[in-house]
Amino acid sequence: LSDKLDKALHNLKGHGKITEINVAETMKEVRRALLDADVNFKIAKEFTNTVREKALGQNVLTNLKPGQLMVKIVKDELTELMGGDAAELNLTGNPSVILMSGLQGSGKTTFSGKLANFLLKKKTKKPLLVACDVYRPAAIDQLHIVGEQIGVEVYSDRGNTNPVAIAKDGIKKAKELGCNVVIIDTAGRLAVDEQMMDEISNIHKAIEPQETLFVVDSMTGQDAVNTAKAFNDVLNFDGVILTKLDGDTRGGAAISIKSVVNKPIKFIGTGEKMEAIDVFYPSRMADRILGMGDVVSLVERAQEQFDEEQARKIQKKIAKNRFGFDDFLSQIHQIKKMGNMKDLMGMIPGMGKALKGIEIDDDAFKHIEAMIYSMTPQERSNPSMLNSSRKKRIATGSGRSIQDVNQLLKQFDQMSKMMKMMQGSKGKQMMQMMQN
Ligand code: GDP
Ligand code: MG
Repeated sequence: LSDKLDKALHNLKGHGKITEINVAETMKEVRRALLDADVNFKIAKEFTNTVREKALGQNVLTNLKPGQLMVKIVKDELTELMGGDAAELNLTGNPSVILMSGLQGSGKTTFSGKLANFLLKKKTKKPLLVACDVYRPAAIDQLHIVGEQIGVEVYSDRGNTNPVAIAKDGIKKAKELGCNVVIIDTAGRLAVDEQMMDEISNIHKAIEPQETLFVVDSMTGQDAVNTAKAFNDVLNFDGVILTKLDGDTRGGAAISIKSVVNKPIKFIGTGEKMEAIDVFYPSRMADRILGMGDVVSLVERAQEQFDEEQARKIQKKIAKNRFGFDDFLSQIHQIKKMGNMKDLMGMIPGMGKALKGIEIDDDAFKHIEAMIYSMTPQERSNPSMLNSSRKKRIATGSGRSIQDVNQLLKQFDQMSKMMKMMQGSKGKQMMQMMQN
């Protein structure tokens, strides 16, 4: 057992219970990462509070390190915050009418084309694109180019300056052409204003779309939240489209928008090409946000720091030759707290295989503990004072034999020596080798 024990002690790093200290430390990192990812401050704070409550007191009974468990809790909570499951489009109308809304430059025209292309590939859908941006002739041209690219018909009426009329005519046209989906692209402005809101609201009322989608540039960060709120107040839209999530664009807007308007994010745009569209999966976005600034490793590092603090205390004692049976005992308690011995040993890299078929007694430490309890505090902190009469007293007190006591002392001695050796830089290398 001696070998196994000191291997276990050396590999304690990163295992144990989630405590107040490591949660606080970890939440600091998570909050920083969320803010880096453009998540609204208030939401980031609420989020970390929720996670803290969930994490505290959770025992690590599985094969996870506390760091990994924390990451899992954070990820699950993030996923939940962004809507849990992927949300689908409502395409039950005949034709189904989809209205695009959003600021100028958010990606409405591009996304209209992407969505038409996406639906076209489903075989059962025949989309029609309708150009309702009456302010810029170039916007109409743009939609025609997109339509040609993907082989989808585009309806426009260049002489007409009334977007409501064009939208209605577009739906009529769809019926003529036998299209079962109508995607209406609208004009946006650079910032929220009354005229734009009135216009989109009028179109919305007139055509009663099955799906009203709010398109937003995920690079606009905090502004995205305010814009979403303004559009939702007027349209009570059905879903959000997050565009420009390609490259290293931060995904924080997804969290903030979902929290503020409580509408599902349905699709994301990941590039300028027509194929750059993806269904929004909350768990993937959680991975993306956690990947930002590498939260996973930050979290794990925070955990390690906590464990290292404990290790440092013990190392100090070793350095001063003050490592005693009390420390030994507290190490044993720590191991026992973590649950079943065999599971614990199994967690140690490389140990799982070695343990196959070997029965490990959960009470393996019982005798050791009994002998240590039979020592006086002085004996525990200064084992070298254990002469034969003291040993005899300990043996009697713990119901063990003198040989058992000698065996324990030998094990303890070996362990102290080993721990001392681990101190230097060579020792650190050795420890690393042992862990791999
Ligand atoms: P609209 O004014 O809302 O219709 O926006 P547009 O569809 O014209 O898009 C504005 C600009 O953003 C164009 O240059 C598009 O090519 C670009 N764009 C749109 N969606 C994406 C995207 O998902 N990723 C990238 N990188 N660019 C995009
Ligand atoms: Mg446009």
